[in-house]
Amino acid sequence: MHEMSLMGDILQLVQEDAAKRNIVQIKKIELVVGEISNAMPEALQMAFEIFRDQNLHLFSHAAQLIIHTEEAKAECVICGLTYHPTQKIALCPNCNIPSGKVLAGETFQILSYEGNDD
Ligand SMILES: [Zn+2]
Repeated sequence: MHEMSLMGDILQLVQEDAAKRNIVQIKKIELVVGEISNAMPEALQMAFEIFRDQNLHLFSHAAQLIIHTEEAKAECVICGLTYHPTQKIALCPNCNIPSGKVLAGETFQILSYEGNDD
């Protein structure tokens, strides 16, 4: 599953940043994941737990991953309707053609993380 590699990239970034700030143990990571970002929250959660349990020198045993879902939103470039696309190709419910400009929902970002510095 590609969530393993996404999670690996995230942990790499967090680890590099934590090293700069003298943080030795990660307690919590918060992510923003868009509904149509191609990452499944359940799979990310599972990947996080696998990495955590393999890296207990870096994570507290109770370290948590918190995922904030960003709702998808698209605007039709033809009729101007703002709607909720359910897939990558945004089909306007008015025009029934893929004319949507995605405004939100593709985000995949680290919001914050917390750790101990001793
Ligand atoms: Zn339309």
